[in-house]
Amino acid sequence: MSKVKVDSVKCPQDHPCPLVGVCPAGAISQNGYGAPMIDGEKCISCGRCVITCPYHCLAFE
Ligand code: SF4
Ligand code: SF4
Repeated sequence: MSKVKVDSVKCPQDHPCPLVGVCPAGAISQNGYGAPMIDGEKCISCGRCVITCPYHCLAFE
C-alpha cells in the first residue's frame, strides 16, 4: 500500500511529469499532462518522488 499521495491541486498539470522516470519501481503514471497517479501495489516508499517534485505535490501520508 502506497504511503504517498498526490495533491492534484498543487500540480499545474501542464508538463510531462518527470517523476514517472524518477520512480525506481515504475509505480508512477500520467495521463496526458494530468497530475501523476501512484500504483500503491508497486510503490516501495523510497521517497524520491517526494523530494523531486518542484511543486511539492507528493507527500507521505
Ligand atoms: S513534477 Fe510535480 S508539478 Fe510536475 S507534473 Fe509531476 S507532480 Fe505535477
Ligand atoms: S515513493 Fe518511491 S516507489 Fe513510491 S511512487 Fe515515489 S518514487 Fe515511486
